[in-house]
Amino acid sequence: MSNTIKKVAVFTSGGDSPGMNAAIRSVVRTCAFYKIECVGIYRGYEGMIEGDFKPLTARSVKDIINKGGTFLKSARSDEFRTKEGRKKAYDALVAENVDALVVIGGDGSFTGALIFNEEFGFPVMGIPGTIDNDIYGTSHTLGYDTALNTVVDCVDKIRDTASSHNRLFFVEVMGRDAGHIALNVGVGAGAEEILIPEEDLGLDRLLESLRRSKQSGKSSSIVIVAEGDKTGKNVFELKDYVEENMEEYEVRVSVLGHMQRGGSPSCFDRVLASRMGVKAVESLLEGKSNYMVGLLKDEIVLTPLEQAVKGKSEIDHELIRVSDIMTT
Ligand code: ATP
Repeated sequence: MSNTIKKVAVFTSGGDSPGMNAAIRSVVRTCAFYKIECVGIYRGYEGMIEGDFKPLTARSVKDIINKGGTFLKSARSDEFRTKEGRKKAYDALVAENVDALVVIGGDGSFTGALIFNEEFGFPVMGIPGTIDNDIYGTSHTLGYDTALNTVVDCVDKIRDTASSHNRLFFVEVMGRDAGHIALNVGVGAGAEEILIPEEDLGLDRLLESLRRSKQSGKSSSIVIVAEGDKTGKNVFELKDYVEENMEEYEVRVSVLGHMQRGGSPSCFDRVLASRMGVKAVESLLEGKSNYMVGLLKDEIVLTPLEQAVKGKSEIDHELIRVSDIMTT
């Protein structure tokens, strides 16, 4: 391992996700293991510009592996989008003797890190933290598995009401640009239809599928709708559309909202965070920079940050096929 890096700074940026705390803990403890210093930066790039740093030791991160959110707080920073802002951040890091950065966040945070590296040659390593799972170079982002479990649990509960009252429920889940949550929860919770941003299934198909399920004797149904679904209608407009065209259905809408981002991370996310944190620090110590740590085929691997930002995470088409068969 190289000894040019003596101090690593870790921070969380963009939207929070369960597992971020576990990743911070892993970064801090890996630094302690290799006897290098670690500081936490509060409030993402905003705190970096202001020099809001705190030294972290192995003991500072006790009792956080099971906590949702991020104890370092997260923020969005417009100032970091400017060259002057990034220069202030650089000066603050130099004043603190920081040699390398680990950024835990989404593609926006990675873009900021890439630009920062380009301008100042500062070593950076990314850990993908977002519930949407919309990042290229990893099969799972931190928080995604927890969100799936949270959402499937909610849909199971909604199903109790749906079947007691013979109702059709439209459940809106997070996913403006990616339908990973909707598709997996739809299959996992046995939804009638799943509307996602990647595929335009069409409104006719929705009506046809609901008619078919009515004819087959189903008295209640669940339709999962990703925020950014391609029908061009929001979940309330979809409800109106179905009620206008199928009077036999009484439709209810449930928008799950921010509760999907919270909660204690699943065991999967805690283990993933621990593995990613180790890889991020060890890679920096090996002299690597500008990579994102990801999980592919159960191996922890590195993908160039630029590719992670530019690449598109593909929806699982085989799972769409499985879902079609399951709703027969
Ligand atoms: P989420 O997936 O939750 O949206 P994210 O990391 O993509 O997370 P963003 O709000 O897009 O979240 O980005 C977080 C921060 O990264 C921004 O507030 C900004 O400070 C920085 N950032 C994003 N894009 C750029 C850019 N082009 N140049 C410099 N900084 C950027």
